[in-house]
Amino acid sequence: MIIVSDETKMEPRQDDLCGGLEFKSTADIEVPTRLIDQVIGQEHAVEVIKKAASQRRHVMMIGTPGTGKSMLAKAMAELLPKEELQDVLIYHNPEDSNNPKVRVVPAGKGKQIVNAHKMEAQKNAQLRNLIIVVAMLAILGFAWFYLPRETFMWAIIAVLLLLLILRYVTPKETIITPKLLVSNQGKTTAPFVDATGAHAGALLGDVRHDPFQSGGLETPSHDRVEAGAIHKAHKGVLFIDEINTLRMESQQHLLTAVQEGKFAITGQSERSSGAMVKTDAVPCDFIMVLAGNLDAMEGMHPALRSRIKGYGYELFMTDSMEDTMENRRKVVRFVAQEVMRDGKIPHFDHSAVEEIMRESMRRAGRKGHLTLKLRDLGGLVRVSGDIARSEGAALTTADHVLKAKRISRSVEQQLTDNYLDRRKDYRLFQAAGEEVGRVNGLAVMGGDAGVVLPIVAEVTPAMSKSEGHVYATGKLQEIAKEAVQNVSAIIKKFTGQDITGMDVHIQFVGTYEGVEGDSASVSIATAVISAISQIPVDQSVAMTGSLSVRGDVLPIGGVTYKIEAAALAGISTVLIPKSNLGDVLIEDMYKDRVKIIPVTNISEVLEHALTGKKKESFIDKIRNFSVDKMGIGIFD
Ligand code: ADP
Repeated sequence: MIIVSDETKMEPRQDDLCGGLEFKSTADIEVPTRLIDQVIGQEHAVEVIKKAASQRRHVMMIGTPGTGKSMLAKAMAELLPKEELQDVLIYHNPEDSNNPKVRVVPAGKGKQIVNAHKMEAQKNAQLRNLIIVVAMLAILGFAWFYLPRETFMWAIIAVLLLLLILRYVTPKETIITPKLLVSNQGKTTAPFVDATGAHAGALLGDVRHDPFQSGGLETPSHDRVEAGAIHKAHKGVLFIDEINTLRMESQQHLLTAVQEGKFAITGQSERSSGAMVKTDAVPCDFIMVLAGNLDAMEGMHPALRSRIKGYGYELFMTDSMEDTMENRRKVVRFVAQEVMRDGKIPHFDHSAVEEIMRESMRRAGRKGHLTLKLRDLGGLVRVSGDIARSEGAALTTADHVLKAKRISRSVEQQLTDNYLDRRKDYRLFQAAGEEVGRVNGLAVMGGDAGVVLPIVAEVTPAMSKSEGHVYATGKLQEIAKEAVQNVSAIIKKFTGQDITGMDVHIQFVGTYEGVEGDSASVSIATAVISAISQIPVDQSVAMTGSLSVRGDVLPIGGVTYKIEAAALAGISTVLIPKSNLGDVLIEDMYKDRVKIIPVTNISEVLEHALTGKKKESFIDKIRNFSVDKMGIGIFD
């Protein structure tokens, strides 16, 4: 067994993707038994969770989905003492059947009590039946001896009638069995209850409707009481993801439950017979772990938030970790963990783990980092394993992982594939030739799907005398305006024209929802400069980058996916911010298809993007401008 330790810190080496671990397959890697020790990359969160578990504090975790929030909550439940677990019983109240009584007993005791009640009731019923039979025989005997034969018939009929009456008059069970509402019998850890997306009844408990409310057919009200997630989580952890989707009213009740440590159960739908029933307070002393992404906090009840702030911890989950030898070893262990958890897929050999490691780097989208969006990476592990299994392989190899990558594309990626096909049909792309005012921008959707986003600019004298406007189509209006404003100084210096006195029209060709366009400003500036100067843009070039007011090209996200999208669209050159160069981890199949040129400022962009006869003199001017330390433009 190889134990993954983090003692030695070493610089990551390209040729040693598995962080120096020697293993034949992930079967050789030891997986820690405790869930908390299996959590990878969220060291701060792990510390806080351990502390919160020992102090019984509530926790809120904010961060990207799939980074281990529910895993940490589950791990927290494992850390809680199981000795304190309890069972909750609910009893019929003979004085007020609409107000069932509650009894709390140590874990495991509840079942015993219910069983004892059932036995008792059974015994009672047997005794009753015995008495009835004996009484019947006595009466019949008496009748046989003392009554004339013809009245004997009547006596039999009378006895049968009596039986029938007895059956209905005596209560079915003189002892009403309590209901075991919450059972912790045989539990090895404190409960972990996931109440994500639960409606009020499932969260707070409910009383079922009784269609037969009288006439001897009704179900006693205590029998219709159902525990809510808050009650099932008693002495354990209640986890609620996407907290903002919980209705305000439910959040309010949740807060009450947290404050009181107990919460009475009542029917949640007003017109049901259950609404008449209200139990005594049922204990719900749980640790609350709330989760969500950043905007989850907006939909959160302020009082609930401040409760956590005041009595608990708030955590931000990171979505990548530094690429160190130590962290690579953790990713190796992660693969082993996922294989073990799945239980059906074959272990991964060294080459397969290396392939997963490469993917982890790619998905981090950041220089020198490994992704912590481990749910998705776990998905890749499973698909790869499934492929290996379907091929009957003893181990999962790099080949299987590569195949899996091809088939397990995200919805966004599939959508862009589809979109790409359609746009090719309509010739919305141009990957060759030249055109004035048209630039192949690059954008990213859903974090992992790149798209080519052609931008067309047109400049006309302003319609309104006082000032020009920026007109942009689609959702990117704001970004376009900002980009044009940011580059107006540069444009003025490069072209001598003041665009504040012009109308600038910008069209994002075939845009659609979901495109993140903050990185379009370099493309917008280039399109506008081309439109003003009437110098064409080389259409075999695509670009991405954010532009500062001084003309510097600033880094952007998703660079790998953008470059791959450009390559797929047939584009041969991609301009990217120089500071993003380390983030580029494109797949081998694209490497020969595109040339990547890092750029640091807009003049370099123009040098590579513009083409045609007028280009040279224009670029010369720019160069002169660039060396003009006084900051006075050539046209000034
Ligand atoms: P979240 O609640 O943040 O959406 P989950 O905790 O449900 O994410 O993660 C889903 C699965 O992904 C986990 O069960 C685990 O297999 C894997 N996973 C996610 N984050 C981590 C992590 N930090 N360490 C180890 N495994 C992880």
